[in-house]
This record gives sequence, structure tokens and C-alpha cells, in this order.
Amino acid sequence: MTENRTTQPIKKLERERAKLLEELAHLRREATMEVDGDVGEGDPKWAERDIAQSLVDIHERKLLEIEQALEEARKGQYGICERCGRPIDPERLEILPETTLCIECKQAIEHHRPN
Ligand SMILES: [Zn+2]
Repeated sequence: MTENRTTQPIKKLERERAKLLEELAHLRREATMEVDGDVGEGDPKWAERDIAQSLVDIHERKLLEIEQALEEARKGQYGICERCGRPIDPERLEILPETTLCIECKQAIEHHRPN
């Protein structure tokens, strides 16, 4: 495979995916850990578990985005906006390698979010 402008972001995505999977495994253990039946609702252990659970959700969403971007890469579509079909600014990919939208489309979607 030849080096092109998308090689670096894809490598970055793959590293990030590996890291996320590792963190997720750890967080899932924490989120499902046994909490003694006799601790009250305000117990810090419950709070810790709640935090771990919401982190699991955040990580899973992020992982999904990365998987999608990598899927695009497999189809040779990485770095192409899925909404307008134009190439995404390489600087944007540098910062947000998992993005599948160019900045214009991202903003358009955010400003016209259906209720
Ligand atoms: Zn676009």
C-alpha cells in the first residue's frame, strides 16, 4: 500500500481503537462489579459504578465512530465526507481522525438538528 494523505490518520485510528478496547474491558469490569447489598444508595461505591457505566457508554460511542471510519477506509472512502462526497480537510482529519463528515456538513447537521 502506498503512503498517502490518509495513511497517518488511519494508523492513528487503529491505535486509538486498541486503546479504547483496553479501557472498555477495564471499565466494563468496574461497571459490573459487585456492590454489597447492605450499602445505602448514597454510597460512593454506587457512584463509582455509575461513573464507570457512563464512561462505558462514552467509550462505546467513540469506538463505534472509529469502527465506521475504519470501515470507510477499507472501502477506500476514508477522508471523504459521507454527506456531500467532498474530501475532508486533512487538518480536520488530523485532529478528529474518526470523523466521517466535513466541517460544513457537521455544522449544517448541528444547526438543523430535528427536535
Ligand atoms: Zn460534507
